[in-house]
Amino acid sequence: MRVYNTLKRQVEEFKPLSDNTVKIYTCGPTVYHYVHIGNLRTFIFEDFLEKALNFLGYRVIRVMNITDVGHLTSDSDEGDDKMELGANREGKNVWDIAEFYINAFKKDMDELNCKIPDLLPRATDHIKEMIELIRVLEEKGYTYRTSDGIYYDTSKFADYHKLMGKANMDGIKEGARIEFNKEKKNPTDFALWKFSPTDVKRQMEWDSPWGKGFPGWHIECSAMSMKYLGETLDIHCGGIDHIQVHHTNEIAQSEAATGKNFANYWMHAEFLVLQNNEKMSKSADNFLTLSVIKDKGFLPVEYRYFCALAHYRKQLEFSFSGLESAKNGYRHLKNSVEEIVEKADPSKIQAVNTENIYYKNFVAALSNDLNIPSALSILWDAIRDKNLSYEERLSLVSEFDRVLSFDLIKKTEESISDEIYELVRKRDNFKKNKDYKNADEIRDIIKQKGYIVEDTPKGTKVKKI
Ligand code: AMP
Ligand code: ZN
Repeated sequence: MRVYNTLKRQVEEFKPLSDNTVKIYTCGPTVYHYVHIGNLRTFIFEDFLEKALNFLGYRVIRVMNITDVGHLTSDSDEGDDKMELGANREGKNVWDIAEFYINAFKKDMDELNCKIPDLLPRATDHIKEMIELIRVLEEKGYTYRTSDGIYYDTSKFADYHKLMGKANMDGIKEGARIEFNKEKKNPTDFALWKFSPTDVKRQMEWDSPWGKGFPGWHIECSAMSMKYLGETLDIHCGGIDHIQVHHTNEIAQSEAATGKNFANYWMHAEFLVLQNNEKMSKSADNFLTLSVIKDKGFLPVEYRYFCALAHYRKQLEFSFSGLESAKNGYRHLKNSVEEIVEKADPSKIQAVNTENIYYKNFVAALSNDLNIPSALSILWDAIRDKNLSYEERLSLVSEFDRVLSFDLIKKTEESISDEIYELVRKRDNFKKNKDYKNADEIRDIIKQKGYIVEDTPKGTKVKKI
């Protein structure tokens, strides 16, 4: 697979650290409100990525944090904590707010057919790990104290600009000067630990070696990713808004603490914008949620389809008329697949033929920097190809939908499960590599599960015993 690595500013060959296991960290939602459809665009991109990697034969371990403390309204460590603000807005306890919006987020993910990541650690459950990491940074001389917290001295980290590039770094300095906290040594310095204010009582605060307070936003991702994925991970994802501050700071603090590369590949989704290039943001009044979309008569999966029409590195403009076109496209696709399902003879359905040109093109599209729009058009081409039998088309659709997750085939009790198809695919790969011992072992496992595989000139066939 080739992916665009923000760190190198180029598309490059993806190589995981160990064999075929890929460790991914994805920045999750700040749970002071519903997630908006811009956040969901990024989460859908990450879901496509995870499933594409699975499709290409990798095992993925994915962590997504839940930010339930420390994310302030301004990126320059000023302003209110968004969580406390959310609690005040709704007149509720901050912990209840977090619980409520975590559940709402999981429901959205579920409705969009996004797999919930393997681990969803909450920042407030990892205060100890964050304090420990700050202590290491302090010992190594990267921190200093101001009247409102413990700060990271970015001038001590030589490669501070490496994710955003030098050109952008100059812009950042200029911009940051406007709201430059005078106690900071450098405009880009950021808070690792903030002291609780003396005039108002915070609902969330903890004791620390430096005084009562709460962690900065960036330290949570470093602490949690290192706890669950080790000091170096394979891929770190998020939206492009995180490149200049959040991810740059994650790199600075993690690499200063460990002396190792924090993440080998950084993949960023472009923004979903409203018409006139307006940015969508939870704190402004213009944010659209999945509920709004459903209330207007769209299915969540139609929003997923809408997102699949644009490459993740292209800005995507949202409009209800655009969503309407996506809905029509989706319903047409669904009807075409239903017709194929009706006409296909279940007893003749075969495991997908990996030598099939559509299959190969689909793999190539995924491998080409996760080109989902191209993968989708290959699905369409396969569906329309009258030279393929209905059974062949059905197995391609079923296979491709493992990545696309458009609910294209309603599962019946009779149909062959994804698990069996996955085993058949693995066996085919072993056979291709002339590893007949492993291929035969998998054939036996399939048999134990009640199916037999036959090798035919048209590919592998699988039948219920
Ligand atoms: P937040 O809750 O603000 O930390 O955002 C959660 C994720 O959504 C992050 O990866 C952000 O980069 C991403 N994100 C925020 N706004 C947008 C947007 N308008 N379009 C796409 N992704 C976004
Ligand atoms: Zn993060």
